[in-house]
Amino acid sequence: MLGAYARDVHATVGEGGGESVAPGPRIGIFGGTFDPVHVGHLVAATWAREALGLDRVLLVVANEPWQKAGTRAVTPAEDRFLMVQAAVAGVTGVEACRMEIDRGGPSYTADTVRELRVATPTARPFVIVGADVAAELATWQQVDELRKAVTLVVVDRGGVGPGEDPPGWHVERLRIPALDISSSQLRDRLAQGRSVDFLIPEPAIRCIRQLNLYAGRR
Ligand code: ATP
Ligand code: MG
Repeated sequence: MLGAYARDVHATVGEGGGESVAPGPRIGIFGGTFDPVHVGHLVAATWAREALGLDRVLLVVANEPWQKAGTRAVTPAEDRFLMVQAAVAGVTGVEACRMEIDRGGPSYTADTVRELRVATPTARPFVIVGADVAAELATWQQVDELRKAVTLVVVDRGGVGPGEDPPGWHVERLRIPALDISSSQLRDRLAQGRSVDFLIPEPAIRCIRQLNLYAGRR
């Protein structure tokens, strides 16, 4: 948990790291559909960055969230990317990432981590997930490769029990203020013309209005 964890983060997370080896950048990979992005995502990203001493946290916008396919109409990836970009503008160390959009096809975190490591071989990848997603990792593609390559940061999610640590992963738990909100709930509110003020950052709300997203859609 964060309190205990913050004291010895570098001791617990560090590996090897002989004195002559310059440590690579610590990169947080926080994937999502972000349909739309909301403050739960942003608090998770900024608190993870601070607690784990990450150089950057990438909000990786899924191109095709394959686990949501067929369950509902997903907003076009470019529009979701614009919302995330608007939401994080000016937030230090937190970036909108379009790697999965540019790669095309279904979005698998294992491919994203591999691509990042090719671009920056010294990078230390930290995959950030909420507690609901942590319970589903066994269904992910190429999960054995991913498990060996990353530290998994499991963020508490309001309304979701903490669950067990997924077996075999190097897990760091992060407690954040419980924010019992979801994109699903916010899509409903937007479709009903209700307020999403303070739950979605103002620049992203402007983006939603400009693109006329969610109006009348459930
Ligand atoms: P949806 O209702 O459409 O599934 P969502 O709010 O769960 O939307 P996603 O884009 O599915 O958002 O989630 C991206 C990541 O953010 C996941 O790892 C998820 O667990 C995490 N997350 C989402 N909302 C919160 C929250 N309120 N607190 C902590 N983590 C969250
Ligand atoms: Mg979700």
